[in-house]
Amino acid sequence: MSDNRPLVDQFKRTISYLRLSVTDRCDLRCAYCMPEAMQFLPRAEVLSLEELHRMALGFIARGVTKLRLTGGEPLVRRDMIELVKALGRKIGANDGQGALEELTLTTNGTQLSRFADDLREAGVRRINVSLDTLDRDKFAKLSRRDMLPQVLEGIDAALAAGLKVKINTVALKGINEHEIVDLIAWAHAKAMELTLIEVMPLGEVEEDRFDHYLPLGEVQAELARRWTLSPSAHRSGGPARYFDVGETGGRIGLITPLTNNFCEGCNRVRVTATGQLYPCLGGGEQVDLRAAMRSDDPNTALTEALDVAMKIKPLRHHFAINSPGGAPALARHMSMTGG
Ligand code: SAM
Ligand code: SF4
Repeated sequence: MSDNRPLVDQFKRTISYLRLSVTDRCDLRCAYCMPEAMQFLPRAEVLSLEELHRMALGFIARGVTKLRLTGGEPLVRRDMIELVKALGRKIGANDGQGALEELTLTTNGTQLSRFADDLREAGVRRINVSLDTLDRDKFAKLSRRDMLPQVLEGIDAALAAGLKVKINTVALKGINEHEIVDLIAWAHAKAMELTLIEVMPLGEVEEDRFDHYLPLGEVQAELARRWTLSPSAHRSGGPARYFDVGETGGRIGLITPLTNNFCEGCNRVRVTATGQLYPCLGGGEQVDLRAAMRSDDPNTALTEALDVAMKIKPLRHHFAINSPGGAPALARHMSMTGG
């Protein structure tokens, strides 16, 4: 019998949302995310497909209803679609072991034209695609790979497959700050929502991220000069605030983890590809689920580890972008925790 107790932390927040990283590898090298010579993990350290699946089932049994697969780039993992299919069977399941309401993923879009139909067939209905610029040269410079045409093709394939696509854009001073209006207009013309994200101090990269830190308050003021923004009642259960844009008929989201406290209603935890559970994206607390999954009694060990995670989930994050000496506020890269 699996454990069906809900996951509730010491501040009475119920955890219903798991972001699960399936690989630390990626086919891009976005400058704010990882260095060009990023050292990827030996494969044995990464959870096997089976381990990922069983672990996810353990979370679902304990009340997780929303599961987001991420990375690294989730679609570069070879057996990824098998995992999506297996987890897709838990959508609306009626087996007494919990059910998913939503299975989704965050991707850079490079592999989408190959996988869009499979994702839809497996039960995925919405995906997030990260895209910071529509300028091919800028894209090649920022991601260190000349793959914008492939990404745009991928987005079109996803839309054609009937997936709802949300674009995530990191706002970067001196890089895409003057392109944000065009990006929003482009996304809205394709009926895609767009969410802007502030750059976060995670992991060593080659340049000083503070040089490119663009407070979204500034962006919002600029957008409001051009367009009619009305606060939207839409909520995603995450840190984003939403606005409807009168002129385009679309919606934008603003995620400002550095300038706003969004922790009160936090309903999520993250697990890396090596099975480290991080109860908070902005905290150092962690629980080793891989050890639990590789123990003699994985079901019991996993559920006990989840109880520990509920005890140590902090009340709020500890980010500060201008940490002394330009050091990252947290040593781990976003490609580990998946954002
Ligand atoms: N590779 C996939 C992608 O790019 O969508 C999934 C993983 S990626 C780490 C998830 C999100 O994190 C992307 O939207 C990316 O732009 C964002 N990201 C990465 N490093 C970041 C940082 N230091 N600050 C803010 N966002 C970051
Ligand atoms: Fe890869 Fe996503 Fe990081 Fe870019 S943001 S390097 S696509 S993991």
